[in-house]
Amino acid sequence: MSNFGILNAHATRRQLLVCTATLAAMALPRDIFAAPFYKFAHGSFDISVVSDGFITLPSEVLLPDAEPEERADFLMRLGGSAESAAVQANIPLIRHGDDLILIDNGSGTNFQPTAGRLAQNLLTLGVAPEQITKVVFTHAHPDHSGATTIDGSVLYPNARYYVSQAEWDFWMDKQFEARRPAALHGFARGARRDLLAVDDRITFVRDGDEIVPGMSIVSTPGHTPGHVSVELEGRDNLLITGDACTNDTIFFARPDWHFGFDTDTEVALANRRKLLDRAATEKLKLLGFHWTYPGVGHAERRGDAYKFVPA
Ligand SMILES: [Zn+2]
Repeated sequence: MSNFGILNAHATRRQLLVCTATLAAMALPRDIFAAPFYKFAHGSFDISVVSDGFITLPSEVLLPDAEPEERADFLMRLGGSAESAAVQANIPLIRHGDDLILIDNGSGTNFQPTAGRLAQNLLTLGVAPEQITKVVFTHAHPDHSGATTIDGSVLYPNARYYVSQAEWDFWMDKQFEARRPAALHGFARGARRDLLAVDDRITFVRDGDEIVPGMSIVSTPGHTPGHVSVELEGRDNLLITGDACTNDTIFFARPDWHFGFDTDTEVALANRRKLLDRAATEKLKLLGFHWTYPGVGHAERRGDAYKFVPA
């Protein structure tokens, strides 16, 4: 499992101490982006990719369309077992002017115990929860919005929250339990817990809306009906894809395959292909949530498929 992020569930106490010592040795005020996280500048934005840890997904979720041999091959490439593989949770912390913006806030204590490390890792960067000014949700699955509250309190208390109206409407539907399979009912309870906890500080967004100058919403439904990506202007634009393309190893090679946790499977497939096609054509820089840390790179066309080229 050597491909995991720098400071995640595997970070030893020694690594954390080394990091803390590094921070302590730096002159104040701390440059929060000087810690050993993957960081880059993009246009008017400074971005640090902070790991929330990792989650483990069964092969039938990751690779529902794969033949047994292909399935075994992809699981091996992901560093997994015969039944499952772990994937990263990469969360960009974006500094823009006086804003400190998170795209999703991770699992908190509400998903798998190997995730939920974001707040701890932010502290090693010198960022306290109170300093976060905006949280943009790509969608309200538990590994993306699950850290909204800890023990009932809002974890990032001074943040404004952004979610698409379609995402809100999907999870708040009074007929949800009647309309959607039982497997999604737990996710719905989690999404309502997270979104309702901050309902007094939510801004609803739609395609093209700007969060701050140069940062805008791109509607990418399918994974969930209200899923959005976030695009940042720069020399070549940066697209933060959330779960519109859930994994680099699998879906760049097989953009024709479904993903088991996509709610509207055919819409998700079509939008994933559209996203990869556009990324290759426009040479977009991409940042993917469950991609090999730090999940930043480009899509290069290879026939009907793509190659992920790390930045
Ligand atoms: Zn996810």
